Amino acid sequence: MMLTIITIEVFLFSTKHLSSPQTAITVGPETQLPDTPVGRELIRIGKLLHQDLDKAHLSLLALEADEAASWSTIESIVNLLLKRQMAKQREQTSVVVSLDQQLSQLANEQDIDWLKAQLLIEQAESSVKSGEVEQGIEKIVKAIEIAERIRAEFLLLRAYNTAGALYNASNKLKASQFYFYKGLELGKKYPTNEYNGRFYNNLGLLYVHLEQWEPALEYLKQAYVIFKASDNAPNERLLVVLFNQSFIYNKLNDPINARQAFHLALSYLHDDSSDYYHILKLKVEARLLILENQYQAALDTSVQCQNHPSISRYPKQNGICQFISAKALMSLESYSEALDSLEQGITTFTQISYERWLIRSYQAKAEIYEQLNRPAEALKIYKKYNAKEREQFVNEIYALEFAFDTQEVQKERDLLNVQNKLNALQLGKEKLRFRILSIWGAIGLLVLVFVIRSTLKVSNRNIELQQLSYQDPLTGVNNRRYYQNQIESGSKLEKGTQYRVVLIDLDWFKSINDTYGHDIGDKVLITTAKRLKQKINGDELLIRWGGEEFLCLLKESEDIESRVRSLLELISGEAYVTKAGELTITISVGSSKPNTIDTLRHDTSPFVEADTFLYQSKQNGRNQATFP
Ligand code: GH3
Ligand code: MG
Ligand code: MG
Repeated sequence: MMLTIITIEVFLFSTKHLSSPQTAITVGPETQLPDTPVGRELIRIGKLLHQDLDKAHLSLLALEADEAASWSTIESIVNLLLKRQMAKQREQTSVVVSLDQQLSQLANEQDIDWLKAQLLIEQAESSVKSGEVEQGIEKIVKAIEIAERIRAEFLLLRAYNTAGALYNASNKLKASQFYFYKGLELGKKYPTNEYNGRFYNNLGLLYVHLEQWEPALEYLKQAYVIFKASDNAPNERLLVVLFNQSFIYNKLNDPINARQAFHLALSYLHDDSSDYYHILKLKVEARLLILENQYQAALDTSVQCQNHPSISRYPKQNGICQFISAKALMSLESYSEALDSLEQGITTFTQISYERWLIRSYQAKAEIYEQLNRPAEALKIYKKYNAKEREQFVNEIYALEFAFDTQEVQKERDLLNVQNKLNALQLGKEKLRFRILSIWGAIGLLVLVFVIRSTLKVSNRNIELQQLSYQDPLTGVNNRRYYQNQIESGSKLEKGTQYRVVLIDLDWFKSINDTYGHDIGDKVLITTAKRLKQKINGDELLIRWGGEEFLCLLKESEDIESRVRSLLELISGEAYVTKAGELTITISVGSSKPNTIDTLRHDTSPFVEADTFLYQSKQNGRNQATFP
């Protein structure tokens, strides 16, 4: 019954929609645009933006000149967003700032919550890049508050990711993980969203901070797969995930894979990529060169990074490049230059309160003092910063490890493998169908087997019953019914062959019963049948005719009389061994003339004849055979 219901469900009412209905705001502002010529044109321009920036710009200007006065609020907002997007792509910073102000003004005047949240998220995002972590956190917390209140899910994925990244940057790993997981949870509703890949990426980075390189690498590989499959993940996303993979290989002391990941990453870096990524490239390359023991090249590259025209916008990257320079200089045994470089780094990290890198910088400083044989200064630094490290870092790791079960991580990771999940859903349905078909198949097979078995059983039973009905239960030889069956339709006897009816009767049998008891009489009957059977061929019959009388149908032959007489010897020649002792038994035999089966079927005279001659044998003193 259950199976039937499931089958109907799966095969007839199988759902076509994989996602659940949404109650929250799940779409971006573009989709709020009305279906008007202006709305459609804005959407077209939004798409064009990614292919041909100039064309998109011209189209937007044309649209503005024509219609701007009569635009609705949402049309105005989308227009400003598009213009800002263009300015960003052209790196026209002041234009972006001005457009941001216009958008912000609009959001406040019209009290448009989603726009307020979006702008806050964007501001927080630039804080991530510039390393102004505290301000960033302040903004993102506000943004999340608004977006969660109005359930603007199209913003929340982005907001959670930014929050996670900011908390990560400020060394608050637990909070970081909290937001990444929030993102993961929400991401399940939007499996093709590229943020899923980002959450993987960022979880990978969390493991980087825990210095668990293997899981970190695994997450980053997943992130790469998702980004690659995603249709809206920009090149830079792939670039960063590969840079991070390169970094992990670096940590795993695997220069070959580190170099490979780096080179693959470069295929996603273009001249028109933002300066930020060019700076990242220099940083990653400098690190890689250190791993490859190319210290001078590493130094040159890290200096290039620090001298990049846009470096002032990215103090964190600047600090790290200063740090890498120091490391390269240490390896080149230029300790005092290394110290200078470290001091620069420390200044930078202090400005942006980047504790983690401050700790590393001081550790490196202590190492240099050791090299310079100034152990007292080294020790002083170690003491100060190791304590700080424990307090800042280890506690976070501890809290993190206890807050989230590793199994939970595993589970979430599996759940988030979006492509797989979609495939699995499809596959699962197919599997279910297959399984149900298999169950039906199995049931069918079982029924078939059952039917065949019971048919066989019945026919076996029938054969058994038939055999039983043709058998004498005491002696096991065939009975009169069998004789009748064989005469009429049997296959045992040869048609056209001459047979003699031979009747055999035990002598003085009544007295055996009377003297030794019925059981001994039975035993004598059984033994007699057994002995006679030995002398009967496959195409002849031995029948217990009744009582202590047997009938044989023996094939006619030249020596038939002596063959019949040999039966006398067969019985009397050897004493019967019974519980009552050894008994000598004799038989009397009467034979008919030879007859075919056809004659025997219709004519009773051969029996009369045989019986007559049997009677003669009795009369003549028993233990003998009489023939016509
Ligand atoms: P004769 O030599 O003239 O044949 O004498 P007989 O005693 O063999 O002849 P009779 O026909 O008088 O006796 C046959 C006896 O066989 C009678 C009956 O009680 C006994 N008998 C018949 N069927 C069975 C049986 O299945 N088991 C036993 N123990 N006795 C049987
Ligand atoms: Mg008898
Ligand atoms: Mg008898």
